[in-house]
Amino acid sequence: MKTHNLGYPRIGSHRELKKASERYWAASRWAAPLGDPNRGTKTQSLKELLDIGKQLRRQHWQLQQAAGLDLIPSNDFSYYDQVLDMTLTVGAIPDRYQPLFEDASLSDLDRYFAMARGFQQSYQENSLDLTAMEMTKWFDTNYHYIVPEFKKSQSFALSSTKIFDEFQEAKAQGILTKPVIIGPVSYLLLGKEKEAGFHRITLLEKLLPVYQDILQQLSDLGAEYVQFDEPYLATDLSDQERTALKFAYQEIHRQFPQLKIILANYFDCFGDNLETVLSLPVDTLHLDLVRCQLQLNDILDSGKLSDQTSLSLGVVDGRNIWKNDFAHSLTFIRKAIEAIGPERVMIAPSCSLLHSPCDLELENDEQALTPEIKQWLSFAKQKLDEVATLKVLVKEDNPAVHPAHQINQAIAESRKNSELIHQNAVKQRVKGLTNTDAKRQAPFAQRKQLQHQALNLPCFPTTTIGSFPQTREVRQWRAKFKKGEITETQYQDLIRQETEKAIRWQEEIGLDVLVHGEFERNDMVEYFGEKLDGFAFTKFGWVQSYGSRCVKPPIIYGDVSRPQPMTVAWSSFAQSLTSKIMKGMLTGPVTILQWSFVRNDQSRSETCTQIALAIRDEVVDLEQAGIKVIQVDEPAIREGLPLRRSDWPQYLAWAVKAFRIATSGVGDETQIHTHMCYSEFNDIIESIAQLDADVITIECSRSQMELLDAFANFAYPNDIGPGVYDIHSPRVPSQAEIATLLEKARTVIPTDQLWVNPDCGLKTRGWEETQTALKEMVAAAKQLRESVSEPTA
Ligand code: GLN
Ligand code: ZN
Repeated sequence: MKTHNLGYPRIGSHRELKKASERYWAASRWAAPLGDPNRGTKTQSLKELLDIGKQLRRQHWQLQQAAGLDLIPSNDFSYYDQVLDMTLTVGAIPDRYQPLFEDASLSDLDRYFAMARGFQQSYQENSLDLTAMEMTKWFDTNYHYIVPEFKKSQSFALSSTKIFDEFQEAKAQGILTKPVIIGPVSYLLLGKEKEAGFHRITLLEKLLPVYQDILQQLSDLGAEYVQFDEPYLATDLSDQERTALKFAYQEIHRQFPQLKIILANYFDCFGDNLETVLSLPVDTLHLDLVRCQLQLNDILDSGKLSDQTSLSLGVVDGRNIWKNDFAHSLTFIRKAIEAIGPERVMIAPSCSLLHSPCDLELENDEQALTPEIKQWLSFAKQKLDEVATLKVLVKEDNPAVHPAHQINQAIAESRKNSELIHQNAVKQRVKGLTNTDAKRQAPFAQRKQLQHQALNLPCFPTTTIGSFPQTREVRQWRAKFKKGEITETQYQDLIRQETEKAIRWQEEIGLDVLVHGEFERNDMVEYFGEKLDGFAFTKFGWVQSYGSRCVKPPIIYGDVSRPQPMTVAWSSFAQSLTSKIMKGMLTGPVTILQWSFVRNDQSRSETCTQIALAIRDEVVDLEQAGIKVIQVDEPAIREGLPLRRSDWPQYLAWAVKAFRIATSGVGDETQIHTHMCYSEFNDIIESIAQLDADVITIECSRSQMELLDAFANFAYPNDIGPGVYDIHSPRVPSQAEIATLLEKARTVIPTDQLWVNPDCGLKTRGWEETQTALKEMVAAAKQLRESVSEPTA
């Protein structure tokens, strides 16, 4: 029985790769954005960056070897993204980047970064200004990949030696690795057609010869195993796509019968693709047994597993941070061994460890992460040991008496019974919930009238999404406070002053519903997590989100409750400064869940409901403190959607219910807002309507038309603020431009339902552009008001 790993995090346990890449971008004259004061100021040569990459690869191979894994991956390293690496490998480089290949002063890596991040040579007219390739989420993870672009006449050619170089690099280190590659079907499906008239899967025949070149060279170099990642197998595939899959792997097997192909699927079951998958001539099938436990039985019982095919059991969770339960994993492993024999069984993490933080041993701050909680956790490095230990235990006649097993079970037991985790009052409260708790008192139409009387807002009311620029100063105050360089009172005074400034300024330009600016918040989830019971935080638990960007999700380890109000003091303070309406600002239960590591000992919906109750208490307290408008942000509701459509209704049902529990504790006059940041919400618009928020503000300035289409087809019942300008760009829109957008919106949204707001929070913007843009926005709203008050002929 072999152990293997599907991929190791490349960012480095101290984010070495992030820091080195950012230094390199700042050092190169063009890689930092124009206007970045650091552009061209730092010094770091390409060689330094390449050296860091090399060190990290070496270190990661070494530690996987030290853990005792039988098969160690290569080509899982990336300077930015593994899909972009693949795009370069198969030579699918969009035409607009051609000029970069004519510029001999650029390195290959420079060209690669240009595709990932865009390229602006200078401010001079006619100088090169290339937009980056699009980025999107990698399945249901928080990792973002660079989307391949295909045209009808797309051609492919082997164009990078990365996969061979890394294979040889490891070989020189004495490790015969298993190169990892994105399978041809998933690679095509990950991309987008950039012109009409074809489906990208039809490019397979042109793409396959490049895979053949790759496999030829790998086998010449001595590779024995190659891992093909085909995560699209966890989604609904069309017959055409399944036929393509069969064709691809039959071709590969025909040409390279000696190569052992591991076909890796993760994040969900094979589902309807199982039959196709079982017919493929591959050496090994990898199953994610964390996400889909029934799969092993399905395969063993089907009688259709070829006796030439092995199974790789993904028993150690690559997506979460909990210690493996050995007893549980061993039942799967034993079952497989009994059915097909140990030679045909491998064990592995469920997916690439890219989605796990690097190393738990770095967490030495016992206050941030107490030893009791820490013992329940396992990060990438520890997960390797778990895989290796499972192999040891499987060989034991009586693993239960093995010390590693005993320790593991004692820890599992301590988690089951810990008083830190289990709060009876919370569990009882969830049990006691009834449908009325998830329902506002009166229907929207009635609430709307009451709110109109209570709030007295003009038509086309103006507001913002919550945050105002978090300047370097504001962030420095927080850093100083955390380091103990300033006292809590000093810190709060500074934040109060900043809040007051923001309020005065909003009054001055004439916004209708004000916000306090969120200056006291580091992050919209972390801020609440730190104030709720049941959450823990790490110091080094970083996970790559995209390129050099990493996130450090909180850990929800126990029943969630709110020991005391979290935002009431700030909101009341802000409201006390103004006679205008101050909007309270909260993060919703689904978003808090989605952006955390969630406990695995109860359903996600149960945890989400607990968070919803904590937020509900906050909403009620805000109302009691005199806050009349309360916004509960749910930017992540869409990204929680399961990979298969058939699983959507169930998720949407509990997600919507959680939001409603959070927001239904208030009286009818209190106006509940929500905010979402994505434009494609056509397919879940009915669920969004079911949230029954009085007002929804949504990001849509980048695809206004799509949004309007949705409204044409579905009469959204409540009020809505389609974002009128894109806050992701420093560009300032004009009054006329905004007025035009609003006029367009009015063709599908009734006048009395339309709000005017930017499309997201402004925390990443500078003050100057924010102020100009919002003045233009307010002016546009006024222009519209005048146009409706004029009698029409
Ligand atoms: N209220 C938050 C803000 O303005 C919303 C952020 C978000 O949508 N991601 O920053
Ligand atoms: Zn947003």
